[in-house]
Parts: sequence; structure tokens; C-alpha cells
Amino acid sequence: MDTNRFRVRSRSGLDLDAFDPRDTGTSRGGKKKGLKALRTLTEELVELQRVLWAQHEHRLLVVLQGMDTAGKDGTIRHVFGPMNPQGVRVTSFKVPTPIELDHDYLWRIHPAVPGRGEIGIFNRSHYEDVLVVRVHGLIPEDRWRKRYRHIVEFERMLADEGVTILKFFLNISKEEQKARLQARLDNPSKNWKFSSADLSERKLWPLYREAYAEALARTSTRHAPWYVVPSDRKWYRNLVVATVVRDTLASLGMKYPEPSEDLEGIVVE
Ligand code: ADP
Repeated sequence: MDTNRFRVRSRSGLDLDAFDPRDTGTSRGGKKKGLKALRTLTEELVELQRVLWAQHEHRLLVVLQGMDTAGKDGTIRHVFGPMNPQGVRVTSFKVPTPIELDHDYLWRIHPAVPGRGEIGIFNRSHYEDVLVVRVHGLIPEDRWRKRYRHIVEFERMLADEGVTILKFFLNISKEEQKARLQARLDNPSKNWKFSSADLSERKLWPLYREAYAEALARTSTRHAPWYVVPSDRKWYRNLVVATVVRDTLASLGMKYPEPSEDLEGIVVE
């Protein structure tokens, strides 16, 4: 799969509507083939992460953003779930605590950046500080506007220091969100996920789209690219994310470390 067409290139403007949330590629064989491809990809991912962890050299940061019900949790479960949990660290960024609010907005982000050998997954991220903060007018525009530059520079620093960064916007349609919210009301095993706050956020859909379009355009860089992932079909969403992560890890040229001593002739009694 060529994932280049999902990558955000423009730094000046971005038409999010040009990305179809229902896209499933040229779908030769559709879902059935997609699920089969995902099983193979998963095996490759598990092996790549094994080497990443063993080599203890590279670090991978994966940022997941999307509207409510876009599937951040499901993506983490399906794409990263099969990996060795020792080497995967998921951080979910919620409404900042009073202590976090007493600091700059990147203060709580930096300690969650992965260390050597680790994959760090951000379930929401510092991007909330130019999204929800903008949509709800939590701070004046002249403050959040400066953050695009801070974020580009922060991520550049991380990349310069050896962190590989991938950012995914899980792109669902407004109709699909409606269906998923309704399922949370109708299905007893999903009731726990329902929050009426999601309905008030849904009313702000156009403002969020505008905020996302600008944030993605301004912060998609060579060192930290954004991908707009078609997410109405969960299997295709997983396939796209898994492919980008696989291709990225494979491009690092990782290998198992050499043994620390000569193993020739050693016998285990
Ligand atoms: P999720 O929806 O991610 O499963 P929650 O229902 O707990 O988890 O939602 C987390 C909430 O925290 C979201 O509404 C999100 O917009 C909010 N949030 C995250 N980061 C910030 C931030 N920096 N400022 C304000 N709100 C934030």
C-alpha cells in the first residue's frame, strides 16, 4: 500500500474535505483481504518491535488524534496490542490537572516521550493545546497561535535527538460519529463509553474541523509528518496505521545487538 497519499504536505493550507473518511483504497478483495494483510503486518510489526527493544537505540513516538469515537483506543489495541507491552508506553492526555495548568503546556508532554528501545503512544497529545483550547477559547488567540511554532520546534528537537515521530489524524465522517455515539447508547456493553459531553463537542464539529485543518497544515514536517487516516472503516484504519508504522520501523535498519562476549565454545552444563 502506498501511504504517501495520506501524508499532509502543505504548510500553508489544507482542505480536510479532500480526504474521504470512507476510503478503502482500490479494495481488491476489500475487507477480507485487508484483514489478511493486517495479520501479516502484525507479525512483521511484532518482530520489528522485538529488534527495537533488543537494540535499545531507536525511539518511536506515535501521536493519535481524532474526534470522539474516531477510534484512538481501537487503533492502539489492534495495531500495538500484539507487541511486547514492556516496550510500549501509552499515555492518555486528559483535561490538564491544576498542577499541569501551573506549567507550560509542554511540561506534561516531555516526560512521556519514549526512551531508547521504546514505542511511546500519545492518546491525545500537545495538539489538544491548539484544538480544544482554540475551539473553546480557553486562552486568547495570540497565545495558542504561537504554539504551532513551539510545537514544530519541540518536535524538531526530539527528532534531532533521535526520536522518530509519526502523527495520525483518525478521520471519521460526522455521520459515522453519529452511528458510533448511537451504538454507545443502544449497546449495554458500550454504555460506559457514553458521555453527554461528546454531544456538546459534536455540535462544535465545524470549529474542530477548522482547528484540525490548520494544526495539521502548520505542523506537518519532514521530521514529524501527519497522516490523515480514513477511519470510517475500522479495518482500513488499522491497515493504514500499521503500514506506516511497519514501513517506518523497517526503514531504520535496526538489527539485534552483537553478543557482549565471544559465544564460541560456551557450553551450558
Ligand atoms: P477520551 O475522549 O480521550 O477517551 P476523555 O473522555 O477523558 O478521554 O477525554 C479527555 C478530554 O480531555 C477530552 O475532552 C480532551 O479534549 C480533553 N483535553 C485533553 N487535553 C487537554 C488540554 N490540553 N486542554 C483542555 N482539555 C484537554
